[in-house]
Amino acid sequence: MTVTDLHKSFGGLKVLRGLTFAIPDGEMRVLLGPNGCGKSTFLKTLIGLYRPSGGEIRLAGERIDGMHPHEIARRGVSTKLQVPSIFKELTVDQNLRIAVQRTTGADATARAALIDETKDLIGLADKSDLKAGTLSHGHQQWLEIGMAIASRPKLLLLDEPTAGMTPEETQQTVRIVTRLNKERGMSVVIVEHDMGFVAELAAQILVLYQGTIFFEGSLKEVRSNESVRDIYFGSRA
Ligand code: ADP
Ligand code: MG
Repeated sequence: MTVTDLHKSFGGLKVLRGLTFAIPDGEMRVLLGPNGCGKSTFLKTLIGLYRPSGGEIRLAGERIDGMHPHEIARRGVSTKLQVPSIFKELTVDQNLRIAVQRTTGADATARAALIDETKDLIGLADKSDLKAGTLSHGHQQWLEIGMAIASRPKLLLLDEPTAGMTPEETQQTVRIVTRLNKERGMSVVIVEHDMGFVAELAAQILVLYQGTIFFEGSLKEVRSNESVRDIYFGSRA
């Protein structure tokens, strides 16, 4: 994916002011930045929920900015946003079935296989018949990841997936995401605040600040960069 001079304004509020960066296929990036700096706005612009005010987004060379969300989804971009989207009254299997039906034309046998494989990937194979609403908060988040990957996207976007998770659930989320990236070759962009989680992911980091990519590098480089410390870690550094 390449993003070139991407802009997004809401009225007079200029949130994205010329984002430029590239993510090679199959790689993972963590998107960091202070609250309200536009991380979710970027993800929503990427998936077509927001129309960019300017600039380009390309996937495999093809421009996708300005396309409808379903057209972008069809090209292999899938997302788990901050707002929950599972059906709490339905079981794990039923939720996954909806996601699979929504996104693939596969026949019944292939769909069942896809559901089983997805449950395995998200570690919920033994929870098939439980209602989603009875799962722990962390397991509900994994189910959401499961729904996002039901279509086997090329690019998976996760907006603060470990918010509210226990340390064990966070650890397991690292394993899930790493497996999707390394074994399945999915490109992944994760917006995340939990620095422990970010450290475990061992991915390159993009720091978003004042509407542009302010810094790009490893966690070590990010941590040792004084201006990044000032803007992002602030008093915690
Ligand atoms: P982050 O995810 O980095 O915390 P957001 O992308 O949610 O930040 O928000 C960035 C800025 O854009 C905030 O000032 C927010 O109020 C504003 N914003 C986000 N979405 C909208 C919208 N739909 N309409 C108007 N302003 C918005
Ligand atoms: Mg956000």
